[in-house]
Amino acid sequence: MSKTVSSTPELHALRQKIDATDEEIVRLIARRLETVSQILKEKSGRPAMLRDAERERQVLGRVETLAQSLGLSGPLARKIFSEIITHSLAREAAALSGGEAQTKQISVAYHGTPLTYNHMAAQKYIGSSGQSARFVGARSIAEAVDSLVAGTVDLALVPIENTSGGSINEVYDILRERDLHVVGEETLKVDHCLAALTDVPLQILQRISSHPLALDQCSAFLATLPRALNSPSVDSAEALKAVADSGDPTWAAIGAPEAATAFGLTILRRGIGNHEEILTRYVALARAPESFDVRIPCKTSLILSTRHEHGALLRCLQSLSDYGVSLTKLESRPRPNRPWEYMFFIDIEGNVADPRVGAALDDLRAQALFLKVLGCYPAKATPAELQASAVKAVPAAAGVAAPAPAGVPAPAPTGAVPGANTANSDPTRAGAPDQTAVSAASLPDNSHYRLAARATRGEDTLVRVGDLLIGGNGFTVMAGPAWVESRDQVGQAAKLVRERGAHVLRGGIFKPQAGHDADQGQGYEALAFLAAAGKAFGMPIITEIMSPDQVRPVALHADILQIGARNMQNFALLAEVGKVDRPVLLKRGLSSTIDEWLAAANFILKQGNGQVILCERGIRTFENATRNTLDLSAVVVVRERTHLPIVVDPSQGTGHRAYVAPMAWAARAAGAHGLLIDVDAGLQAALASDDQSLTTIQFGQLMEGLSRWRA
Ligand code: PEP
Ligand code: MN
Repeated sequence: MSKTVSSTPELHALRQKIDATDEEIVRLIARRLETVSQILKEKSGRPAMLRDAERERQVLGRVETLAQSLGLSGPLARKIFSEIITHSLAREAAALSGGEAQTKQISVAYHGTPLTYNHMAAQKYIGSSGQSARFVGARSIAEAVDSLVAGTVDLALVPIENTSGGSINEVYDILRERDLHVVGEETLKVDHCLAALTDVPLQILQRISSHPLALDQCSAFLATLPRALNSPSVDSAEALKAVADSGDPTWAAIGAPEAATAFGLTILRRGIGNHEEILTRYVALARAPESFDVRIPCKTSLILSTRHEHGALLRCLQSLSDYGVSLTKLESRPRPNRPWEYMFFIDIEGNVADPRVGAALDDLRAQALFLKVLGCYPAKATPAELQASAVKAVPAAAGVAAPAPAGVPAPAPTGAVPGANTANSDPTRAGAPDQTAVSAASLPDNSHYRLAARATRGEDTLVRVGDLLIGGNGFTVMAGPAWVESRDQVGQAAKLVRERGAHVLRGGIFKPQAGHDADQGQGYEALAFLAAAGKAFGMPIITEIMSPDQVRPVALHADILQIGARNMQNFALLAEVGKVDRPVLLKRGLSSTIDEWLAAANFILKQGNGQVILCERGIRTFENATRNTLDLSAVVVVRERTHLPIVVDPSQGTGHRAYVAPMAWAARAAGAHGLLIDVDAGLQAALASDDQSLTTIQFGQLMEGLSRWRA
């Protein structure tokens, strides 16, 4: 566009004057930043918030008035100073979060090639923190994230939403699946321009390239160029570069003005987007969470699954509202492999270091079925006005009074859930404890299992597994081979236990000893056999995991994760199951008290996973006539003390197949929510591989009896 003007000495002098003025402006901005950091030092020791919205309003008002009095545009002055203020706040926030991090060079992955919007966003993010970085372009968002997981970069900056295109679902799915943490956010204004090799009239253009989304965002402008064909490219920078390399004056590309200039192109038209203000929000992901000083206005991002109760989402949102925590975003995404079930992505204003936010999250954990804190990070994509209200709401003292729980009892389950038994009208259950009659005052100290405590939630927790609800008035039978040995063995077992009324297929996959048979399934191979059998006969599957690294891979295929008796206090394992959105069956330790067991369950709940089923499987006593002493009184005690469901394993509990059915009946009478039973479908009793597994015939008789009892 710029016409070459022959240089004169006067022009040269004026240009030098402009250069000097620009330098002066930059120096003044640097001086302003320096003063801001002096102010921060002045404030340190006093718990003042970093951002003072009232003061910002005054500053912007003053510069606007001054600009207008000098014949300049007031809004322009306001815009320039907002940018300067935002930048200096980000610098100060970074300084508060530890100075040494700033001197180290970090590496940041982004999707695309140099000078794409994603790259510029990464540069902006790093620039505002005062750090220096090496930027690594990846071929896809997934590749950028993979390099973060692999440890080849320190951060990945990925786009999460766009004001014209909406949410970027791929990134939400990554946040759900991966153990990554949001440590920052950035916004970038998408300012599309059209650029070509030289200053040509728009009418001669024959081809226009860019990322498909960018072409979409400029559709109205492109419609005015009917002769030009749209030609999608991998990203906008690639398109600009291709035009620069082509030597073809009839080819143009859409991208950022900075990028167009960097590739030596001529900008034909600026601001060609359909909407004047297109913004993309990015999140910075890291392998470990970061914490930020309470003075920094922060956002916290969460993933939430609600309970299967009326008004469940409402009650979760009420928890936030009760503590004065505002939402900035609520987005729903389908739960994987759970048709028509949703999880919610929530951004709240607040720093987890703020006791008020911590208390709100504790309350939310008690309401939610699953809660994952994705990260707490300095807020950038929030208007200053909203931040002002967050500042005012910070309590003066640390002690935050918890609001009274809503106390709305959930309606009783309808019992119409296919597969689950309903015992609403079963007179034999009259002896089961009436939890609502137990007053909290009469209960022992529950402070070490507060989230699991009956006093925290009046209603029974119902753990949903496919169409089944475990807990409440249901009675769920989980049965199958103690060990998965082959595809045929577990397939046959699934068929036979299903025909006899089992709801869930059980099977061990990580057998300590290696197999002696070529056909023997082990580990993940056995898991595939178990999953195929469950699928073939319409049963969810449960299997035991023994180490944290098994949790996520197994959770991809298993519907319930079992924690064995020996691992009840394996806190690394409990921590990991607490972070995935899968129901967990927690067996009682061989020598654990009920309180220790509930504390272990509470630990899982505290990580965010509220879908815990307890399982009594016998404890070690002096008695050796049975393998363990099945403690059925635990069922009654547990139902009194916690809202979590409890099932009984009479197979491990007694160790003798002859004792399994009587104890199964007794468990039912004591108020258990279900059974876990070993069934060896292949063989006669005499040939069974262990002492405790029922034959198919015995299992059939037990189920027949139980169903007649229920009728
Ligand atoms: C099992 O159920 O396969 C098992 C090993 O049980 P426990 O952890 O109760 O011994
Ligand atoms: Mn982690």
